[in-house]
Amino acid sequence: SKLRVGLLFGGRSGEHEVSISSARAIASALSAGENASKYEILPFYIHKDGRWLAGEAPQQVLKSGAPLLESSNSSPAENNLVNSQQQTLERWQSPSQVAEVDVWFPILHGPNGEDGTIQGLLTLMQTPFVGSGVLGSALGMDKIAMKMAFEQAGLPQVKYKAVTRAQIWSNPCVFPKLCDEIEASLGYPCFVKPANLGSSVGISKVRSRQELEDALDNAANYDRRIIIEAGVAAREVECAVLGNDQPQASTVGEITFNSDFYDYETKYTAGKADLLIPAIIPDDISRQIQNMALQAFAAVDAAGLARVDFFYVEATGEVLINEINTLPGFTATSMYPQLWAHSGIPFPELVDKLVQLAIERHNPSH
Ligand code: ADP
Ligand code: MG
Ligand code: MG
Repeated sequence: SKLRVGLLFGGRSGEHEVSISSARAIASALSAGENASKYEILPFYIHKDGRWLAGEAPQQVLKSGAPLLESSNSSPAENNLVNSQQQTLERWQSPSQVAEVDVWFPILHGPNGEDGTIQGLLTLMQTPFVGSGVLGSALGMDKIAMKMAFEQAGLPQVKYKAVTRAQIWSNPCVFPKLCDEIEASLGYPCFVKPANLGSSVGISKVRSRQELEDALDNAANYDRRIIIEAGVAAREVECAVLGNDQPQASTVGEITFNSDFYDYETKYTAGKADLLIPAIIPDDISRQIQNMALQAFAAVDAAGLARVDFFYVEATGEVLINEINTLPGFTATSMYPQLWAHSGIPFPELVDKLVQLAIERHNPSH
């Protein structure tokens, strides 16, 4: 009989739409070719308001590619649509469907999806799931904890400083000193980031004291934990990792763009950024990046898949690790599946491997 794959997508993070695109690509890969005879898809859609929907609602989202609307911000012309969607939402038949899932495929990006929370729930359900467990997901999401794990593994990275929201907000005497310290140790430009986000949300590149103060205040709106990093002028290269205990590293790819940095708009506006695979870099640099990607994967205890992102400083030949993403974008045109396609694993085979890796990890054998 077919393996029932619980495709879990949508979610409350800012990457809801990306998640829908990723889920559509995965759903079509699981229902085509050889996969069609192996897998049955049970889609679960997490609405922007947090409700889990099974049955028709997720099918509708997968078909249209558009999120289900919230009734509050609808125009009169949309009322019919909203009402019919509302009815669909109310026809929610979850508990039985959850029990039918043989293996979960969470394809949620950002907080509450990529950070270990969903992974904790799936662990408690005792059902295998694609990707990293609680620890790998949490370490991969929190840029401060991630950098500490990388440091332990001896991976080179930019100089950084971790601060808390409380230091930024609560005491007016502490804040100027904090900024002095950041200026002295990191200089300008530096990057201010909420520790637990993705897609460049809340990130600022700052070049002056005023910009630093504003950026810290802004980042504190997003997270209790804030990281400030020395800015580096470098090419941005990425490597995909696939596997559990003997993971493989893909060909290295490069992201190119014209904007100041790889911000949200550049990431999600068609035509603003290009993927170049393979990256045109020396072979020894490429091998070094692949080795570092595997070390990073192990350092945070990732599993299944991850995309590891680097800064390549061409002038000095230096490679610095930037971050690991444990649930990278997975649309048909995303870097992760494209890197594997170029490394000899086409999209449908990649999705099949990920499901098999999830099962393998759940039932270890020797
Ligand atoms: P996210 O997890 O949201 O993708 P990143 O840490 O990857 O956050 O930062 C987003 C982008 O900001 C990077 O792809 C890069 O363009 C730029 N950036 C981030 N940190 C630095 C840095 N220390 N030096 C130079 N550019 C940086
Ligand atoms: Mg990230
Ligand atoms: Mg990034």
